[in-house]
Amino acid sequence: MRAMVLEIPGQELVERELAEPQAAEGQVLIDVSTCGVCRTDLHIVDGELTEPKLPLVLGHQIVGTVIGTGGGATRFAEGDRVGVPWLGWTDRTCRYCRSGRENLCEHARFTGYDIDGGYAERAVADERFCFPIPGEQADDHVAPLLCAGLIGYRSLRLAGHGERLGLYGFGSSAHIICQVAVAQGWRVYALTREGDTETQELARSLGAEWAGAVGDPLASNLDAAIVFAPVGDLMVEALRAMAPGGTVVSAGIHMSDIPSFPYELLWHERTMRSVANLTRRDGEEFLPLAASLPVETRVTVYPLAEANRALDDIRHGRVEGSAVLRIGG
Ligand SMILES: [Zn+2]
Ligand SMILES: [Zn+2]
Repeated sequence: MRAMVLEIPGQELVERELAEPQAAEGQVLIDVSTCGVCRTDLHIVDGELTEPKLPLVLGHQIVGTVIGTGGGATRFAEGDRVGVPWLGWTDRTCRYCRSGRENLCEHARFTGYDIDGGYAERAVADERFCFPIPGEQADDHVAPLLCAGLIGYRSLRLAGHGERLGLYGFGSSAHIICQVAVAQGWRVYALTREGDTETQELARSLGAEWAGAVGDPLASNLDAAIVFAPVGDLMVEALRAMAPGGTVVSAGIHMSDIPSFPYELLWHERTMRSVANLTRRDGEEFLPLAASLPVETRVTVYPLAEANRALDDIRHGRVEGSAVLRIGG
């Protein structure tokens, strides 16, 4: 099968012909239709996440069709549409797994990092960590829900409750979560780079009450903020815009250093926190919710062989919404 493979971090992915994967005990074999491209993939290629298996097939937003099952795998039938997210396996025995926090599992394995992912024609996955995909939305539009949507959803939940929500950086994740937040009654403030009127326009079209540049005093007194851009300075910027009791959540797996700031910014029970990975419960809640609203994803579609171009476009902020690789179908 064809795959785009990371052989050496810091270098481009290379197109390779790999042996067909075989579904082992408890796994399903999936004919990959679409795989979303995530900023995390870029951090892996760049060597900022330092422990990938190598060589590695990236990709943790897989949508495809079950075409085979390993021994004991009975959850899905051939022909079922499934999604495969970042969380690919947990030990089920550590203190985090036993307390409903499998996202923090001490021995977790991640799709497209520890386990080969979806930048390939076929993939295998542990059936317990696959999601059935409800609704009629096309595979290209579902794929970004599996990480950009899920991590955004978890971030939104951990941002707490309130009236005014700031979204710092308005890319793949924010354009999805903006729609969910508006449906939940939040007044959304979208903060982008100065002069990025195209993205601000997109934010308003998806229900944001206000869109403008980071630092604009009109976006202040917020009850919560989610920082999607991997820029530590934005954590302090967002904290500066928080009302007392407000929470700033970093949705990213990697970020540049957060500069020091006066205690006064954190005082009055403001919170700054991160969000790590996902639990299966997040997906079981979010995917049906996204199908019911429905969340409309904006996607730019690339063929598998152009994965490097997709990654480069994310790096340079050239993608409106989400980038996906269309592989089968
Ligand atoms: Zn565990
Ligand atoms: Zn991701």
